[in-house]
Amino acid sequence: IPGEEIISHSNIVRIKAKDKLCGVCEYTREIALAEQKRADTIHSFKEALGKKEFQIYFQPKISGKTQEIASAEVLVRWLREDGTLWFPDSFLPILEETGEIESLDYYVYNAAFQWLRRENGLPLLPLSLNVSPVHFRKIDTFTQRITQLLDHYQIPSKYLVFEITETTYIHNIDAVNQMIRFFHDRNIRISMDDFGSGYSSLNSLKDILFDEVKIDKHFLSAGLSEKGKIVLEEMFHLLKRTDKWIVCEGVETKEMVDFLIAEGCDELQGFYYYKPMEQKKFEELIA
Ligand code: C2E
Ligand code: CA
Ligand code: CA
Repeated sequence: IPGEEIISHSNIVRIKAKDKLCGVCEYTREIALAEQKRADTIHSFKEALGKKEFQIYFQPKISGKTQEIASAEVLVRWLREDGTLWFPDSFLPILEETGEIESLDYYVYNAAFQWLRRENGLPLLPLSLNVSPVHFRKIDTFTQRITQLLDHYQIPSKYLVFEITETTYIHNIDAVNQMIRFFHDRNIRISMDDFGSGYSSLNSLKDILFDEVKIDKHFLSAGLSEKGKIVLEEMFHLLKRTDKWIVCEGVETKEMVDFLIAEGCDELQGFYYYKPMEQKKFEELIA
């Protein structure tokens, strides 16, 4: 092994060792593979974006009232040159670190807006789009880019929802509120994603400007215990009384569906209904 590599490997485990109680970390095959993937992601991202290797997938959201498809969340996938499909969790954290997620988000918004502008006679459905935390460092750039896209595509505001995670909100309350006001000036709704997964205090609920709250999938992931049901019931009660639209994600079983509908959940999203799907499948579905 060349000298620089030994130094680089040592440096990687030196940082990892700090998180361990024993203070020792070995450079294993797993670490080597993860580092390789990281380098590969950083190295190939720009070209991949140019070659349109990123695709938008759609996951339908079902109305709690009518049980029909009411809208969809847009989720990005990386269809690599070698034919493998990469899920966001495997590359988004790296792009978040490098800041390149910024251009990926714009690419996704552009693709979603284009989809909303298509002229093939299929019904239009509102789309939910994820907003990465990096945009809150450059709000002016973000609002300018979104304004350009909105002006260009002329999408009616009722077809758009932007999702900002609870953790992002808690770390950037003023910046998020500023962004929400920008969207509200254009009648665009904002959803608080992954609600209940971080450290938001109940106190913050009284001030939040969000229109919709998306309850984190971990509330449902271990099935529904009696106490879990009580927590959800009381959360719904609170959210309804503060006029929030309630969405639940990670809905996987009939039991969850029955419970959530009985409790007045506005929209349901999860594998019980549909997994995220490519554009063509989604269009066939809504046709
Ligand atoms: P998220 O926004 O919380 O999206 C929901 C994730 O839950 C999706 O994972 C979806 O496939 C998964 N999911 C849906 N239904 C179920 C279910 O019933 N059970 C379980 N266990 N999981 C379910 P996905 O597509 O892998 O996306 C992961 C995360 O990556 C997203 O979490 C979101 O934070 C981020 N992400 C995806 N696309 C984009 C994007 O275009 N921009 C940004 N900034 N982030 C994105
Ligand atoms: Ca989301
Ligand atoms: Ca979520």
